[in-house]
This record gives sequence, C-alpha cells and structure tokens, in this order.
Amino acid sequence: MKIQEAVSLQTLTTMRLGGAAHLTADITTKEDIPRFYEFAKQHSLPTYILGGGSNVLAHDEGFNGIVGKMMITRVELLEETDSFFSLRVGGGEVWDELCAFTTAKGSSSIAAMSAIPGTVGAAPVQNIGAYGQEAADVITKVHAYDSQRGEFVTLSAQQCGFSYRHSIFRGEASGRYCIYAVTMQFSKRPPQPPYYAALQTYLDEHAIEQPTPLQIREAVTAIRAQKLPDPALQPNTGSFFKNAIVDTETFTRLQQDIESVPHYPMPDGRIKVPSGWLIQQTGLKGELLHGMRVNPANALVLINESASSYSDLAAARQYIIDAVHKKFGITIEQEPLEIGPAA
Ligand SMILES: Cc1cc2nc3c(=O)[nH]c(=O)nc-3n(C[C@H](O)[C@H](O)[C@H](O)COP(=O)(O)OP(=O)(O)OC[C@H]3O[C@@H](n4cnc5c(N)ncnc54)[C@H](O)[C@@H]3O)c2cc1C
Repeated sequence: MKIQEAVSLQTLTTMRLGGAAHLTADITTKEDIPRFYEFAKQHSLPTYILGGGSNVLAHDEGFNGIVGKMMITRVELLEETDSFFSLRVGGGEVWDELCAFTTAKGSSSIAAMSAIPGTVGAAPVQNIGAYGQEAADVITKVHAYDSQRGEFVTLSAQQCGFSYRHSIFRGEASGRYCIYAVTMQFSKRPPQPPYYAALQTYLDEHAIEQPTPLQIREAVTAIRAQKLPDPALQPNTGSFFKNAIVDTETFTRLQQDIESVPHYPMPDGRIKVPSGWLIQQTGLKGELLHGMRVNPANALVLINESASSYSDLAAARQYIIDAVHKKFGITIEQEPLEIGPAA
C-alpha cells in the first residue's frame, strides 16, 4: 500500500480547490482496506475514502488525516441469461467504462448514465442518476469494509437506503464503509420510452425511432458534452445543487407566478423542480461570483474560473442560495460532499 505525504487535495478533486491531505494511501487490493484502517488507528488519524474526487470539495485547511484512494479494479461476470446479466465490479473501476461495457453487451440499463465522471465505488454513495436512470435501478449488493466493526460486509440494496441522490453512505453511515465492489444486474430488454425530454429531442432530431443501447449512450454523451464543462479543462463538480423537491402547495404557488415552471412528479407525490432553472430565474446564469462562474450553458454547474480558495466558493454558494430563496422562498442544497478538518 503506497503511502504519500502532504498531497494537495487540489490534485485529487475536480474543483481544484483546498489544502493538502496529511497522508494518502493507494488502496489497490481488498487486503489493503483493513491495513489502511489499522494504520490510521495506530497513528490516530481520521480517514476519508476518495474515488475520482468529482463530487467532493476540499477545505482550505486541508485534511489532517489519511485519504484512502479507492483503486480496486476488476469486472466479474456472475450470471448471464437471455434476458439479463449480473456483474460484480471493483470500486475503483471507472463508471463510464462500465457504461461502455454493459452497453456493448446489449443492455441499456445504465446507458443514460453514460459520461458521469467518477468510480463505481462512489455510485451507491449518492445513488448517481441522470436522464431518468439511477444506480439503485441496477445495484443488488454493495460489498464494503465496515470500519466501525472492523469486518467485511455485504449490504443488500434495501440496506443501502437509496433515495433521490442519497443513501446511507452519505447519510447516517457517512464515513463508515469503504466500498470495494458493487454487484449489479443489467437487463437486456430493448430501451423503453418514454425518455427524458432532452434525450427524446435528440432522438427525434436524429430520426432514431427505436434506439439501441449504444444509441442511447451516444445521445446522452453528446447532450452532456453540450451542457457540462469537462472537469479536466474547467474545474467543476457537475451539478453543484440538488434539484429542489417541493410539496404540491409550494409548487402551486410557484406556478401562480410563472406558469411554465419545469417540473417532474416524484413517486412520493412531491415535485422536482430543476435548481438550474430556479438559479436562471434570478439572473445569475453566466455571472462570475468570487471567481466561480455560474455556467452559461447550465446554471446548475459552478465552474472554478479564478477562485483561489474554498472560502471564495463558499461566498459564491451563499450568494446563489440567498438569491433563490429571496425570489422563490426555496432553499436549494449543495450536492457535493466535503473533506475538511472535521470530515
Ligand atoms: C462534469 C460532472 C458531471 C456530473 N454529472 C453527474 C450526474 O449526471 N449525476 C450524478 O449523480 N452525479 C454527477 N456528477 C457527480 C459525480 O460524478 C458523482 O457523484 C460520482 O459518483 C462521484 O464519483 P467519484 O469517484 O469522483 O467520487 P468522489 O468524489 O471521490 O467521492 C464522492 C463521495 O463518495 C465517497 N466515496 C467515494 N468512493 C467511495 C468508496 N469506494 N467507498 C466509500 N465511499 C466512497 C467519498 O468519501 C465522497 O463522500 C458529476 C460530476 C461532474 C464533475
């Protein structure tokens, strides 16, 4: 297990802000995991598990502990029939490569989640999702090391407590589990409409009536490239705010002001309103706030154009939250997690 000292968290996170991690450790095998926690215990260091760093903001003070970089790779075919196949995939595998692999094998189950940056091990953490699909649709088991009990465990999908961009891993069990593999089941059923509006528009424009899984993947990848800045070129964490989930009363009030408010009904009866739209209505789209650019193509994304610190980002974030609250009475919430002195 390779251990390094004083590694800048700017190099490990796609927002490219913040201080240094006291130590980092490369977790490349399952056996490294208990070793990692044992080392941390011996040296009284707090721990943090990191994948691709595409959903984590680092504080200016850095992290006075040890960061475990999840790098376990492996894809195992567990079962295959005419209608589905299941895979057990290492936590350090790249999510988009899994999308490419399963799509090529004839499944559209995660094709619409193509091009989401990051690792497979992070996918259950916020139950990643896009264009009407989410990780919880395919995850059957999460294999993890329980750092509290000091043992390897397998959690059922139900035990993971998945909901919209949420699970126990970013809720009550935050920091407890190191996810080293995920078992997922992929359907071979041809893609089924209705598709998300942007996806349907793309398919219509390209005269694709019955898309193959590969066509769904290509469409989503093309749509995302238009709307989302490449973190390698423009530091960002994708959607900076979660979409607002409002009750019917709030939604009716919104609709009285602006009839054409975009919205998506949720299974629990509440209504999802895109936070990007809410921010756009405040007039902040394209603005530069404390070095953070509100993406002109999609107001939900904040790009670190010239911010020099986490404090700059925090100031920009508060400005936007306040502007949305003032206009709509809705408090939007940050999506990325944080690594800092207390994390
Ligand atoms: C341009 C862009 C577009 C994006 N689009 C989307 C989108 O469409 N939908 C969406 O849902 N997300 C999106 N994201 C957010 C991000 O890609 C996902 O949250 C992704 O799952 C993060 O993966 P990661 O490996 O980078 O995780 P990290 O950022 O490294 O970690 C995220 C959190 O998960 C924890 N974690 C990571 N790996 C493990 C592990 N193995 N075990 C335990 N805990 C772990 C970390 O401690 C941290 O709290 C986007 C991000 C960017 C930059």
